[in-house]
Amino acid sequence: MRGIVFPGDGTAVVKEFPDPTPGYGEVVVENRASGMCGSDLHFYHGSFPVAPGIVQGHEPCGVVHAVGEGVDPRVAKVGDRVMIHHYWGCGSCRRCREGWPQMCEVAPGQALATHANGGHAPYLKVPSSSLMPLPDELSFRAGAAIGCGTGTAWGGIKRIEQLGGIGDTWTAVFGQGPVGLSGVMFAASMGARVIAVDVDDKRLEQAKRFGAEVVVNSRTQPLVDVVNEHTKGRGVDVVLETSGHAGADALSVLGTYGRAAFIGLPGKVEFTTQLVYKKQWTLFTSWTMSWMEQQRCADYVVSHGLPVDDLFSHSWTIEQAAEAYAWFDRQDAGKGVFEFAH
Ligand SMILES: [Zn+2]
Ligand SMILES: [Zn+2]
Repeated sequence: MRGIVFPGDGTAVVKEFPDPTPGYGEVVVENRASGMCGSDLHFYHGSFPVAPGIVQGHEPCGVVHAVGEGVDPRVAKVGDRVMIHHYWGCGSCRRCREGWPQMCEVAPGQALATHANGGHAPYLKVPSSSLMPLPDELSFRAGAAIGCGTGTAWGGIKRIEQLGGIGDTWTAVFGQGPVGLSGVMFAASMGARVIAVDVDDKRLEQAKRFGAEVVVNSRTQPLVDVVNEHTKGRGVDVVLETSGHAGADALSVLGTYGRAAFIGLPGKVEFTTQLVYKKQWTLFTSWTMSWMEQQRCADYVVSHGLPVDDLFSHSWTIEQAAEAYAWFDRQDAGKGVFEFAH
């Protein structure tokens, strides 16, 4: 099979790999959709390390193709439509048992495309514990998006919700890439009044379609004034910062008792404890989502009929890797997906 590799110099190349076969407890998935995620660009440019020569893509979704020994057929059988949680851990420590293998106490942060071959190839081998059913109502594209970008927005929104609810808040979402647009979509569907912020008018137009009530181009408009106009000078109750670049802007509009989730990486946010003290802010991050929250995210998208498919603007084949990532690297709008003819 052929898969996409990042040498780490801002290029994407296609290389030959042997077709995977499942070992004990493993499953091979026939990929149908493999999303392009914003964090791919860190690997593409070499700013985050990956194991050399491995297949990229950590938003795969597809159909079970082959099942290894030791996998209960009630868990996975050939033909099942599946989503994949892209992290794995030891399976036994506290964090793994809580459903957060990315924070495994034994071997944290092991993931598709950084430690093992990812989804930008026709076939993918994963531990059977990584699989979860893709609801019939969802497309493979939607299942791919929920596997990281949309699921990451969901994870951040769930943290915000747990810390005091999100309905009837003014919520500012910074960055209208796939994660930000998903955040706008979830926050609006939960009853928040959403202010979408970006530096690109095309992206802001998309944000309106995903439910933003107000859009602000922070490059051409006075952000604080616009927010104050809508919030009667109080600032927003909630911030979801997805760009990794808007920490200062995000804090500039956060009102008293505000809660802010910073989910864009690497991201730099500077503050004094005195400032946070005077505003009684709650500031936090969120790391994608747990196994359970990935499934809950999919269920929520189904029950609310949310337009996750509309996040995708471009469909590519594996052989178009170079062109696809050169386009994505411009970061001007949309989300791409690799699709496969099996
Ligand atoms: Zn563990
Ligand atoms: Zn991702």
